[in-house]
Amino acid sequence: MPPAPQSVTVRVPAKVNVQLAVGGRRTDGYHDLANVFFAVALGDQVTASPADTLRITVSGPDADQVPLDDGNLAARAARLLARRHGLAPDVHLHIAKDIPVAGGMAGGSADGAAALVACDALWGTATPRDILLELAAELGSDVPFALLGGVALGHGRGEILRPLPVAGTFHWVFAVADGGLSTPAVFRECDRLRDLAGTGSDTAAVPDPQADPALLDALATGDTVALAAALSNDLQPAALSLRPALAATLRAGADGGAIGTLVSGSGPTCAFLTKDEDSAAAVATALATSGTCRSVRVTHGPVPGATVLHRP
Ligand code: ATP
Repeated sequence: MPPAPQSVTVRVPAKVNVQLAVGGRRTDGYHDLANVFFAVALGDQVTASPADTLRITVSGPDADQVPLDDGNLAARAARLLARRHGLAPDVHLHIAKDIPVAGGMAGGSADGAAALVACDALWGTATPRDILLELAAELGSDVPFALLGGVALGHGRGEILRPLPVAGTFHWVFAVADGGLSTPAVFRECDRLRDLAGTGSDTAAVPDPQADPALLDALATGDTVALAAALSNDLQPAALSLRPALAATLRAGADGGAIGTLVSGSGPTCAFLTKDEDSAAAVATALATSGTCRSVRVTHGPVPGATVLHRP
């Protein structure tokens, strides 16, 4: 028998939704989505080490905004996996947090996925991939994608995933806002704006969300200009309504040379697609000097999902 590992570190990506089509509000309060997830190199690292009890620690610029109790998706992931295997969830999970908190980049979900993979490796439970994906879906609708990575089309609440073909690498800049936006509040605002516009907000009033064939084609052929033209987010008007200052951030990125701009998921992080790496650096400089955001990140994708980095 090999000795039990002392710690396992997993790297996990943030996501941007290159398309987020939101259907009508269902009777259970959820919305059906057609959701094209795209994993970017900006990510968190979760390290699982043996401990006498379940313990969470967090480092990074937003660490003070991350719950350390069972509200943390990484803690819930450890409990869920332990229960599945009849184990005690005794583990120290350290989250090195780089994904903006409540930024619309699914940082909590990413940590949940990373904790599943890290605990599975630490405990030697060798959980089959399909069971890990099932547990991930139980944790939250964005968690399965963080396991999968790459680019994928999500249906239902986003948790039913189909990996999509992608050619090449795309270059992104993210503008991180001061403070977060609550995802449920943004969905509520989306419904309110639809009601206000007279179109209605339930499933009878809103067409079924569908993936955009032009967007899927742009990804498959690696056509950055076509992808930029096809980017869309039905939650963007709601995020802008709750945080009108984001309009200036989007404008600053476009003025700086971004070929595609959108609010990431439920916001308030803004995403900018650029022609190439040099153009990304120029957009980042324009955003950093615009005074319209807290910080700026240059990254690329797609990248793989939660991956074990370090296993001594
Ligand atoms: P999404 O894009 O999936 O809507 P988000 O990126 O907007 O999510 P998160 O960073 O996942 O938002 O955080 C949303 C809330 O989840 C936080 O305010 C926090 O209370 C809670 N949370 C739970 N676990 C974590 C975690 N590991 N990291 C950050 N936030 C967490």
